[in-house]
Order: sequence, then C-alpha cells, then structure tokens
Amino acid sequence: VWRGALIEYIEHPERFPDNVLRVTADTVLIKDAFPKATIHLLLLPRSPAHYLLHPHTALADPAFLSMMREEAAVAAKLAAAELARQLGSFSVSNRARNEALDKGGVAFDELPPGRDYAKEIRVGIHAHPSMAHLHVHIISRDMHSERSKHRKHYNTFNTPFFVPLVDYPLAEDDVRRETGFQNANLARELVCWRCGKGFGNKFAELKRHLEEEFEEWKRE
Ligand code: 5GP
Ligand code: ZN
Repeated sequence: VWRGALIEYIEHPERFPDNVLRVTADTVLIKDAFPKATIHLLLLPRSPAHYLLHPHTALADPAFLSMMREEAAVAAKLAAAELARQLGSFSVSNRARNEALDKGGVAFDELPPGRDYAKEIRVGIHAHPSMAHLHVHIISRDMHSERSKHRKHYNTFNTPFFVPLVDYPLAEDDVRRETGFQNANLARELVCWRCGKGFGNKFAELKRHLEEEFEEWKRE
C-alpha cells in the first residue's frame, strides 16, 4: 500500500463511484478498502493546507475542526443506517435508500425505533496514521472482519491509540501525543471490546471469541 494513495479520492472522487459515498467542497467520504469491522468508512478533508499535517496539528485549527465534526456527524448517520441495513433487522428499499443518498442525505430517519445504531458507530483518528492524507475513521464497534489479521490491527482501534474526534483539540500535555505511550498500546494484551476478557497475545483465540460476540451483538 502506497502511503499517498488516498490523494486519488480527494482529487478525483468521480473515478471511484463504487467506493465514494459522499462528496462536498470540503470532504470526501469513502469506504475503507480493508474494513476492520462490519462498517468502516474514511472521511477525507480536501484542504491541501491541512491534509498532510499530523491529525493533532490539523485538528488544532478551530474552523477546520468544526467543519470536520459536522461532516463526521453526517458520515456517522450514514454509517448507522448502513449498519442497520446490514444487520438486517429492518429493510429499507434500495430505491428509497439510493434516492436519499442521491440528495446527499442518508436514510437516517428510517432507522427502526428499537435499536440506536448510532451508538454502535465510533468516530476517531489513529494517533500515528499509516496513510499520509488525513482521514477520520467511522467504524462500527464490532471489529468483525476478515481483514483484521493481527494484534496491531485490533489494538489501533481498541486502545487509546484510537483518539475520538470529540476529544480534539488535544491538550498540549495529553499523553496520547507520546510515541512511547502509543507504541505500548499497540503491544498491549488483546482485550475483547464487548466483555473485557483478556486474550494475551492469542489473536486467533480472540478472533474466534469475536465471532461469538458478533452473533450476540447483532441480536442486542
Ligand atoms: P491509518 O492506520 O492510517 O489510520 O488507516 C489507514 C486506513 O486506510 C486503513 O484502515 C486502510 O485499510 C485504509 N486504506 C489503505 N489504502 C487504501 C486505499 O487505497 N483505499 C481505501 N479506500 N482505503 C485504504
Ligand atoms: Zn467478549
């Protein structure tokens, strides 16, 4: 994977009709190509003055941060609607859904009354991103994915390495800025996001356990 690959979506969103969900003057919302959970989207800002800055630096700009928060909120609603659809507990007709998406909106008013799917969506940033262009992860909390293949993948989303967008701007002395702290997070023992059970470094066992948790979580 080339570190700079995300620039293509920013500059030429029209070339990726299957992956691009929403385009505004300020942002592009795409599907993550290697999803680490049932729903995994990336929100990319288009501002060249910001997109190559470290996220902690870029999101210290109040106007930029507030734009990103607004767009992330729209993205999270879209993600929640898609999660609801995929978990299959209700069915929006494809036509209604596509019409809503065409208008730049989403089917969020079609969420069922029973479950609040928005609560299952997390919005945040990796403290040390691997891709060069700034991106906010919008990800369902299940971590149920064939693309999650090792401890680091899991821990980048399930330790303080994942910094919720609502926590920005980070204080100057926030420990999450420290490389040593973040390297330790990636090397931490594996812990189930749902029940808190520890799995040491036994990734295969965690994966089997996540299968069981997924079945129960779906039916919550
Ligand atoms: P990071 O660790 O930098 O916060 O996450 C980068 C994310 O970008 C990863 O979740 C990875 O799966 C995703 N990714 C890497 N390359 C591509 C690509 O070319 N297209 C898309 N859509 N996602 C990508
Ligand atoms: Zn568990």
